[in-house]
Amino acid sequence: MNCENCGAPMRLVRDRDYWVCDYCTTFHFPQENQEGVRVLGESSHLDCPACQTRLVSAAISQLPVLYCPKCKGLLATPENFRRIVDLRRHTSQKTPHVLRPLEKTELARRLRCSNCHGQMDVHPYYGPGNAVIDSCGTCALIWLDHGELTVIVTAPEREIRSGGWTSQRRR
Ligand SMILES: [Zn+2]
Ligand SMILES: [Zn+2]
Ligand SMILES: [Zn+2]
Repeated sequence: MNCENCGAPMRLVRDRDYWVCDYCTTFHFPQENQEGVRVLGESSHLDCPACQTRLVSAAISQLPVLYCPKCKGLLATPENFRRIVDLRRHTSQKTPHVLRPLEKTELARRLRCSNCHGQMDVHPYYGPGNAVIDSCGTCALIWLDHGELTVIVTAPEREIRSGGWTSQRRR
């Protein structure tokens, strides 16, 4: 990213989620999109499992994720994913909407992991919301299509069933 004031390359301030120009002290604060993703825009070394676009750095509630600028999907570690869902479920407005049925076509889709290029596991998310999650157990990575985080975060509380993400960890 280059400074809009003087054109010099800007420096990303880690854990603060903004860019600064060391030459003229201009700041750039990336805005959150509808899913709460702040796109920082540094190129990663991984491609999108869904559309093969190079993923870029991003943050949700200050937690690092990788973001696809084309299909707007998200790649996160299971740990960060769990923390993001916890944090955002506390801050987001729950909408008493009719639950979206599980997309059968999403369950049939097979993605290749960005990191090891092995076939990702596809399974319904057992927490709130009828989202379909792709994950690679080898690399500990989770892929969320655009909109899936919102479905999970805004789903009504009563949707939480036993055998979900958190209770699995206690076993
Ligand atoms: Zn500048
Ligand atoms: Zn993509
Ligand atoms: Zn993998």
